[in-house]
Amino acid sequence: MDFSLSTEEREVRDWVRTFVQRELMPLEQEVLRRERRGEPGLTSDELTALQLKAKESGFWGVQTPEEYGGMGLSAVMTALLEAELGRTFVPFRFGGAADNILFHANDEQKERYLLPTISGERKSCFAITEPGAGSDAKNIRTSARKDGADWIINGEKTFITGGNEADFVMVFAVTDPEKGANGGVTCFLVDRDMGWKSEPIDTMGEWGPASLVFDNVRVPESQILGEEGQGFALAMQWIGRGRYLLPARAIGSCERLISMAIEHANTRETFGAPIATRQAIQWMIADSGVELEALRWLVLHAAWQVDSGMDSRHAQSIAKLYGGIKANEIVDRVLQIHGGMGYTRELPIERWYRELRLLRIYEGTDEIQRRTIARNLLKGHVKIGGALG
Ligand SMILES: Cc1cc2nc3c(=O)[nH]c(=O)nc-3n(C[C@H](O)[C@H](O)[C@H](O)COP(=O)(O)OP(=O)(O)OC[C@H]3O[C@@H](n4cnc5c(N)ncnc54)[C@H](O)[C@@H]3O)c2cc1C
Repeated sequence: MDFSLSTEEREVRDWVRTFVQRELMPLEQEVLRRERRGEPGLTSDELTALQLKAKESGFWGVQTPEEYGGMGLSAVMTALLEAELGRTFVPFRFGGAADNILFHANDEQKERYLLPTISGERKSCFAITEPGAGSDAKNIRTSARKDGADWIINGEKTFITGGNEADFVMVFAVTDPEKGANGGVTCFLVDRDMGWKSEPIDTMGEWGPASLVFDNVRVPESQILGEEGQGFALAMQWIGRGRYLLPARAIGSCERLISMAIEHANTRETFGAPIATRQAIQWMIADSGVELEALRWLVLHAAWQVDSGMDSRHAQSIAKLYGGIKANEIVDRVLQIHGGMGYTRELPIERWYRELRLLRIYEGTDEIQRRTIARNLLKGHVKIGGALG
């Protein structure tokens, strides 16, 4: 068993680490100032400029297949890159990406949706959640009714990431209420100018989602992505595309946070000695260090399963559940170690405290991950002892 990185993995990882240090970390104070003014951390133009800078060194379309101009990196490599990006809260992501399910588009749809999304000309969003159906996604009510050669979509979606900025939405609607999620849900590609409206939702973090309203939005048959009735499988494929990537990002955040805690513990003195000499502080740092290492290997193990072509869903659920819980415990301890300063907006800890909270909710809550893990174990879908048997 070899836990080391190859030379190539190390080089790619180090390039991103340097990019984060040189290009992103210097923007942190401005990102915090903008947040206090209620503005986004990076404007769309600033994000594009940073993405193009990364592209000059070949960092473009990290997981996009090479035939589409991407890097086609492995899951393990992508997890390593996400961890590096997680070292800063500057809201950066590499350009050249497109939602995995857009690759199911037919040739004409690829020209109109997939390729412009990869090039950055168009922005997508993914909309399944509704006010009455989140975890229970099979219960969606948004409907699409056939009218001649067209479909008429009615309903409301909520918490849609990128829904305010998107040019088009991949929206999931019931086309056969009898069948529901078992062959009666269809995915439609719907341009904003076809008639849907969005409203921002104010949240405690940077990634402000939107609610979307479809009021008799008429779309032609050619807007169906994949096959009529097969939308639920596409939705699950989108959600399952990289559950390991969410906790991967938290690895970097925890590394940075624990470093801050160590520095503060070594320099802050109370009662005539650095707080690092107190067992209460040492134990918080020890527990955080142990949990960070456990998280790292859970994430890389899940990514390795993806690269090995194994059914990685169980491992991904474990990494997502553990990452969400432990990253929140770690940021809480780091805030505690900083005392009153940890609670201020002068330091970024409180921002991470708010941002990391989302990890326990989106793309499957803690409870839903536990439900999946328990079902797999109770029904014998996976063996105790994991991939080694
Ligand atoms: C910032 C943000 C971005 C998002 N982005 C998107 C997006 O881009 N596209 C999209 O479609 N959705 C998106 N979502 C929606 C997200 O996936 C849902 O919020 C999430 O799945 C939970 O659904 P819910 O909010 O309806 O909670 P509910 O499903 O109502 O759950 C409420 C509580 O009950 C628990 N619970 C539910 N069922 C069970 C059960 N069977 N057993 C035990 N406990 C249970 C949940 O874990 C939770 O604690 C986003 C959400 C947020 C906050």
